[in-house]
Amino acid sequence: MTRLDDLPDFLNALAADVMSRGEWGKVADYIPELARVDPAQFAISVALADGRLISAGQSRTRFSIQSISKVYALACVLSRFGDSLWNRVGREPSGDRFDSILLLEQEHGRPRNPFINAGALVTTDVLLAGRAPKEALSEILQFIRDGAGDDDIHIDASVAASEKATGFRNVALANYLRSFDNLRETPDRVLGTYFHQCAIEMTTEQLALSGRCLAGLPDAPMLLSEVRRRRIAALMMTCGHYDGSGDFAFRTGLPGKSGVGGGILLVVPGRASVGIWSPGLNAWGNSMVGTEAAERLARFTGWSVFG
Ligand code: GLU
Repeated sequence: MTRLDDLPDFLNALAADVMSRGEWGKVADYIPELARVDPAQFAISVALADGRLISAGQSRTRFSIQSISKVYALACVLSRFGDSLWNRVGREPSGDRFDSILLLEQEHGRPRNPFINAGALVTTDVLLAGRAPKEALSEILQFIRDGAGDDDIHIDASVAASEKATGFRNVALANYLRSFDNLRETPDRVLGTYFHQCAIEMTTEQLALSGRCLAGLPDAPMLLSEVRRRRIAALMMTCGHYDGSGDFAFRTGLPGKSGVGGGILLVVPGRASVGIWSPGLNAWGNSMVGTEAAERLARFTGWSVFG
């Protein structure tokens, strides 16, 4: 029996352990709709290279993917415009909060990477490229739906409206970027699109399936070139958990991207794509229990990009 045959039991035991311990972290409260989510929830889904999808916990409950959407927006921009994005956004970890404005001034409006908010706003600006926000959003949604092989993936308009009403830091970032001429569209248009992309909802099952193309699994639809897939994974590893990226890489040895809705997309190149969700966050704004689950999964399977 291979270790992976024990995976269903392992995941069920993990979910049971997490639920019985009841230590959840704190849900994001700067977006009122997210503040209402019950933190005592956990789900994990693993899509394996042999086509199996194994889950435990509330793997059919939809949650707000928030910053995980930045990975898909980046994939769409790279497919559509190639490497020109890198003239406007860097590829270095920031070591600062996800919504920090500090480095932006020092570095003249060129965000450190596409996964901090400032970099994601520029990425969304590039994706808009004179089109209606609806078109750019359809492109991101279609990428996700094609990746998951599931059209039942949508935007929760109430979450987008909730963030629009209170997202003052993002408003500041967008205006600041525009002052450096690093937004072509109006801040309003970019922000409206960005809030909606962040408000995409998925279950962990859908998240795991949609990530198969990023993990390069054999049954994944060909949505990305090999080179792009590897580069996106490298950015997830170095920048995917904001100023907690080093800690996440140390604990899991795997590329991942978090969102303040409590989701984590974990890719295990050639082996698996994993969706994890638990809404309570740690001090860096990453899922507290989700990070622990990723670490325990990596230890159980022996998965690591470091061999
Ligand atoms: N929409 C959120 C924001 O911009 C995303 C942040 C996150 O998920 O880390 O604040």
